[in-house]
Amino acid sequence: MSQFKLHDVRLFCLPNCFFAAVLFSAGALAAAQEQSGSKAVSKGETNDQPNMEIRKVGLVVHGGAGTISRSEMTPQREREYRAGLERAMTAGYEILKRGGSSLDAAEAAVRVLEDDPHFNAGKGAVFTSIGTNEMDAAVMDGKTLSAGAVASLKHIKNPVSLARLVMERSGHVMMDGEGAEAFAKENGIQLLTDQKYFFTKQRWEALQKVKSAEKSGGGAGGKKYIITDQDRHGTVGAVALDQNGNLAAATSTGGTTNKRAGRVGDSPVIGAGTYANNATCAVSATGDGEYFVRATVAHDVSALMEYRGMPLKEAAQSVLDKVAKLGGSGGLIAIDRQGNIALPLNTSGMYRGYVDPNGKFVVEIYK
Ligand code: ASP
Repeated sequence: MSQFKLHDVRLFCLPNCFFAAVLFSAGALAAAQEQSGSKAVSKGETNDQPNMEIRKVGLVVHGGAGTISRSEMTPQREREYRAGLERAMTAGYEILKRGGSSLDAAEAAVRVLEDDPHFNAGKGAVFTSIGTNEMDAAVMDGKTLSAGAVASLKHIKNPVSLARLVMERSGHVMMDGEGAEAFAKENGIQLLTDQKYFFTKQRWEALQKVKSAEKSGGGAGGKKYIITDQDRHGTVGAVALDQNGNLAAATSTGGTTNKRAGRVGDSPVIGAGTYANNATCAVSATGDGEYFVRATVAHDVSALMEYRGMPLKEAAQSVLDKVAKLGGSGGLIAIDRQGNIALPLNTSGMYRGYVDPNGKFVVEIYK
């Protein structure tokens, strides 16, 4: 990742022009501040350079949380997951580095994960109980509090981009099924003619496994069906901070294996699986959707920061603890305006990645 060696963005305000000199990644400023005990350097109050303003960017992605055990993961598979997360971060980070918006970055990162069959979104979406694929997605812009969401899509390759289109052009926040797809078509998004694109052997076998386990009550003829979270669900998401201090969140999912047709989880529900507010943070969640909706996870993280003044990490962890108390498992990614990040999980793993204070990509899978 040699192209990411520079990671400080310092915008020097000269009489009539700005020069972006060094890129400063998520957390770098926070880390530097922690070490020096200094405050953020803002326009007009600089240390050693007149009118110097430090602008940092940040990006965190996830590819779903669940029971991910090392013993079941082959080195090859692990490499593939890691590569997928890195590709997503590259797509998002390139945009942030050149001054693009957090919304563009989060959408771009999620599109890469939607196109990757390893993750339960877009191409790799799980199957419903009737063998179809139904996808949900959402985006939120922390600057304007605009949001867009789609649910139960069947013929859209990149649901996250339709969610964005709903936000920007529909006058609505949430659209589902045929209506959402008709809106997509009207706006130039090509619909797939059938669902073949979404077929993956792994997801199909997971459906058969879950169905067999359901029929047999967990075991049949001495055969035990071990259903892992990998078989059951997954989601992808990204949260980003751009050079203008704007936050954004994006989430996309195929939902849960064997879900009833028409079931919608937390991912497209604004305030549950997805939320962004420049005053607080941007959040994308993954886990048992039914619990994440009831715990209003993403907005709760923001609310704890806004109303209680809680730091990001503490807020994120305490909301996840609330989910656990209800009986749900999963994780979330979050970023605040200072570039602090949180990636709590209460499962044995979560595919996740972030840009570290040195601008390096860090990918983690296990707890
Ligand atoms: N939260 C997603 C849903 O319930 C699934 C997941 O993140 O694993 O649809």
